[in-house]
Amino acid sequence: MENLRISGERLWASLMEMAKIGATPKGGVNRQALTDLDRQSRELFTEWCEAAGCSVSVDAMGNMFARRPGRDNDLPPVMTGSHLDTQPTGGKFDGAYGVMAGLEVIRTLNDLAIETEAPVEVAVWTNEEGCRFAPSMVGSGVFAGKFTLEEIYAATDPDGRTFGEELEGIGYKGELPAGGRPVGAFFEVHIEQGPVLEREDKTVGVVRGAQGLRWYDITVRGRESHAGTTPMESRKDALAAAAEMIAAAESIAVSRPPHTVVTVGMVEVRPNSRNTIPGEVYFTIDLRHPEEESLADTGERLAATMKAIAERRGVVLDFEEIVHARAVGFDPQCVAAVRAAAERAGYSHMDVISGAGHDACYMAGIAPTAMVFIPCADGISHNEIESATPEDAEAGCNVLLHAILDRAGTAS
Ligand SMILES: [Zn+2]
Repeated sequence: MENLRISGERLWASLMEMAKIGATPKGGVNRQALTDLDRQSRELFTEWCEAAGCSVSVDAMGNMFARRPGRDNDLPPVMTGSHLDTQPTGGKFDGAYGVMAGLEVIRTLNDLAIETEAPVEVAVWTNEEGCRFAPSMVGSGVFAGKFTLEEIYAATDPDGRTFGEELEGIGYKGELPAGGRPVGAFFEVHIEQGPVLEREDKTVGVVRGAQGLRWYDITVRGRESHAGTTPMESRKDALAAAAEMIAAAESIAVSRPPHTVVTVGMVEVRPNSRNTIPGEVYFTIDLRHPEEESLADTGERLAATMKAIAERRGVVLDFEEIVHARAVGFDPQCVAAVRAAAERAGYSHMDVISGAGHDACYMAGIAPTAMVFIPCADGISHNEIESATPEDAEAGCNVLLHAILDRAGTAS
């Protein structure tokens, strides 16, 4: 069992074939959720899985499960998978790699006539990206009980079409209930979508968890007045106050290395006139950290610092948290299985924390879960130039194979 290997060539060929569905002239993929292209990618996946001897089922969220039976089919399945939908200017690898890697594991088990103890399933989660229908990761989210079917069905795209209608429209509103069944373990392989593995020259990222996120909406209210006639000491300049707050937010992040990241990505100034002192400024803060405790502590520090600045400057502060996605720690045994698999195969590896959300983050709530990352060129993703090498794709899939065998067990 130690030296088993998947076929890197077959994996790559499947990835490139899948990337033709929704291919863009710049070499990327535009295959948004619940479009006709999404349907085509699902049909190709089904065709391949059935050819590999799997039965394919679809649940009420359109999540698909290709199942390879085990020796004991009463055991909960060891599951792997990711998503086939993409961003409008997406690449060939984000999502599709995790699905094709799962299929390649099945094909390899077939070639070698290996019977696992527990069944193995490859999942395709519906609408991971959330670009057409917000929010993201709803297929795995409903499966894991984070959202209800009804609220997701009611979501609308920019043209006013509902998720429920469109899911039915592509023929993938399945019979099975979404979720509510045990999963023995879940593994997801994915491109890193960041620069760390490439920078550190490592082939495999052993993902220990995903960072948490808090989003804040901040409004600073001062007083509009004439830029020429209002002396400096009698101003209530909302923008000057906001600028001090934004600089302080950056300093707070810098003073808490290495994982704290704070971003002010949006600022609106009112009335936005060159000769009126700004009366109101709205800005956003995106705060992330892999540990929940640190996330809370930095959030409090940001709020207290901004409050102090507002008081000193005589402006009114409205500081509101609008999103709190908790940090996720993956299952230590599944993480160890991934690390051991990379070790045995002789791949250079390092532990990492995911900077982005993935279906695995919701699955971690209901099943022992871990992820495998491989490098992507320049850390770029959600971009048509997104790129990974065949060698790295093969390495990640070999790690997946051994992690799955570890958890599913082999009948002998
Ligand atoms: Zn993805």
